[in-house]
Amino acid sequence: MRKIALEEHFTSPELSSYAHGPGSSMNREGFGRFEKGLLDFDGARLEAMDRAGIELAVLSVTTPGVQAEPDAHLAIRRAREANDLLARQIQRHPTRYAGFAHLPLQDPSAAANELSRCIEDLGFKGAMINGHTNGRYLDEDIYHPFWERVQQLDVPIYLHPRDPHDMPHIYRGHPELLGATWSWTVETATHALRMVFGGTFDRFPGVRLVLGHMGETLPYLLWRLDSRTRIQSGADQGRRRLPSEVIRKHIAVTTTGVCAHAALLCAVSALGEDSVMFSVDYPYEDCSVAAEFIATAPISEAVRAKICHGNAERLLRIEVEQTNRKVA
Ligand code: MN
Repeated sequence: MRKIALEEHFTSPELSSYAHGPGSSMNREGFGRFEKGLLDFDGARLEAMDRAGIELAVLSVTTPGVQAEPDAHLAIRRAREANDLLARQIQRHPTRYAGFAHLPLQDPSAAANELSRCIEDLGFKGAMINGHTNGRYLDEDIYHPFWERVQQLDVPIYLHPRDPHDMPHIYRGHPELLGATWSWTVETATHALRMVFGGTFDRFPGVRLVLGHMGETLPYLLWRLDSRTRIQSGADQGRRRLPSEVIRKHIAVTTTGVCAHAALLCAVSALGEDSVMFSVDYPYEDCSVAAEFIATAPISEAVRAKICHGNAERLLRIEVEQTNRKVA
């Protein structure tokens, strides 16, 4: 079945140093294993997509990118360069690649302007935000102008993990829990919940967020979030939507890095069949493993088609003609 994948990463020589820089759980050696794949647009990436039946990959800068840059002016310049590089690669492979904008969130209005440029001039499909930006989270008041623009442009924002701003004490002595193994999940789920509980989706009802990694555990926990919210907020609860209502309406998830049928069935059951989308997390995950996982999932063909391409086509407004029909 033809597929669209939307958590697929790239880097450039200028951006690579952020991926193994200060505060990153990945060291130079660990990153080195993936760097070649991240820099490639013409070789192994396309071959892996072909083997897995992935027609279109929506590309994004690997975490954390310029969001780790302390100098806002430099972040603005490098984000623009990254987006221009991506636009050139999409132009070279228009049926195989689409883009998510890389944004300098150190300056919320510059980020909003760069998002406009990426959507209106470069034809990108949304943006990927790699967690906090120098410790600022997306529910904070400084980001209201940014969300206002997102709502106007009506594009999804993909919230991707990065390492926590301050290393929590609980990880001391356990470096194996850092990064994609566990700490990114806690960080990203908490970031999304700051927006849910902080009212971002009430203030900006048009905003749609995408989470990778089968929703960073949130689909599994909806009942508990509602139950404790009802008890903690008491009589006030009547006036507010429950967390599960906000999450179901405003958050979609992708299957990146969780090739497990039990987790997929939970996500579809909790969020609905229109809110789950296939993705890989290339080059950190294997396209063929992800393709095999979705091909063998115990779901109907109609639901499989929605997850593999239909939901992404609708949410990202991807024209079917853009995709390459030659790939089976
Ligand atoms: Mn990723």
